[in-house]
This record gives sequence, C-alpha cells and structure tokens, in this order.
Amino acid sequence: MKIIMLGAPGAGKGTQAQMICDKYSIPHISTGDLFRSNIKNGTELGKKAKEYMDKGQLVPDELTVQLLLDRVANDDCKNGYVLDGFPRTIPQAEVLDKELSGLGDKVDFAINVDVPDENIVRRMSGRRTCPKCGASYHIEHIPPKKEGVCDRCGAELIQRDDDKPETVQNRLSVYHEQTQPLINFYDEKAILKTVDGTKDLNDVFADIVAILG
Ligand code: AMP
Repeated sequence: MKIIMLGAPGAGKGTQAQMICDKYSIPHISTGDLFRSNIKNGTELGKKAKEYMDKGQLVPDELTVQLLLDRVANDDCKNGYVLDGFPRTIPQAEVLDKELSGLGDKVDFAINVDVPDENIVRRMSGRRTCPKCGASYHIEHIPPKKEGVCDRCGAELIQRDDDKPETVQNRLSVYHEQTQPLINFYDEKAILKTVDGTKDLNDVFADIVAILG
C-alpha cells in the first residue's frame, strides 16, 4: 500500500503517518526527516537544504526528488510506504507518478488531514521534536511521559527552528501557494480522501483506518 499524507504543516500528518506505519508495518518516509538527518551529519545536501528550511521555504525540487526516489527504491519499501511531506509541489507529484507508472505501480491513497489555519499556529508552537530519533510530541496534546524528554530514546526534546512562530506563518503561505494544489491533483485521480484533522488524534486515526481498510 502506497500512501501520501497531505495537509498543512502542523496538521498532524506526521503523527498519523507514524500510526499508519506501526499498524500496517510499512516504512514512514519523511523528506523533512531525511533533510534533518543530512543536516545533522553535516552533508553538502544538508547544508544547502538548511538555508531554505530555516526560512520556511521549500527546498528546490532538484535537491528533493532524487533523495526521495532513492529512498523508496530501498528494499524495505517493497510492500509500500507512507510519504509524509512529499510531494509538496505539482512537479514533485508528477515525477513520483511517472516513476511509479514506469514500474507498473501507483499511489493508492492521498490522505488529506484537514485543519483550518487558525488552529495551525497554536498547534505548531506547542510541537516538540526529538533530535535523535525523530519522534514528535505536543506539550498539550501528546506530552512525553517526562517533560522535555523523549519517551522512545531519552534524548532532550527541542523546538525545531522552523516551528518558531515567525517561520510558521511563512510555511503556511508556502503551503497554500505550492502544496494545496495537490488536493485537486489527487482528487482528479480519484484517490483523495479527506479527514477532519481537528478531531482527537485517535479519532482521526480511526477515520483513516476506515478508509484504508
Ligand atoms: P517537514 O518536516 O515535512 O515539515 O519539512 C520541513 C522542511 O523541509 C520544509 O519546510 C521544507 O523546507 C523542507 N521539505 C521537506 N519536504 C520537502 C519537499 N517535498 N519539497 C521541498 N521541501 C521540503
């Protein structure tokens, strides 16, 4: 099963992606995480990507597409995957489609986690991330068992630079301009499913499971 998660930054799509992956035993592929691990390892790609990410802008397609295509060519992706944060532009979606159709394959579902803008800023300012294992938390909605510490690996949680309020507004504008058109793109392919992302996260997940079967 190949699934794409759509939705504004902070809509909770990363959390839902992780829950889907745990239930269906398929990998969670986040281009944001791939970039962050490149940044952490000090790679050339990481250095270039950081300049855009810190401003809340999209990393150019030339740096993003191959990274993703290489990742989904890995053996662990044979039975499917959940893409979280890719595609983010129509050209990225077209490349993915072309690549998959070349393999006689296709995306099965595009799940749009719908949350109005006014909820987003509040949500993102409470988000905390583990710099070591990538787990995400929210100080109100999904707090770690011990404040400021990752449940999974014990590392100290951080607020990502791009979750700071001044960057969030920019990321939202970028989302509306460049990523929201993907909703129509997948609707036209009849694989778009929209869920109400303002519900409790377990209810959102139940709605997604009802769609995936
Ligand atoms: P995320 O963790 O998905 O919110 O991504 C964090 C940042 O990484 C984004 O604000 C972009 O700067 C960059 N990024 C992640 N995925 C993509 C993508 N598919 N295309 C371009 N930039 C991306």
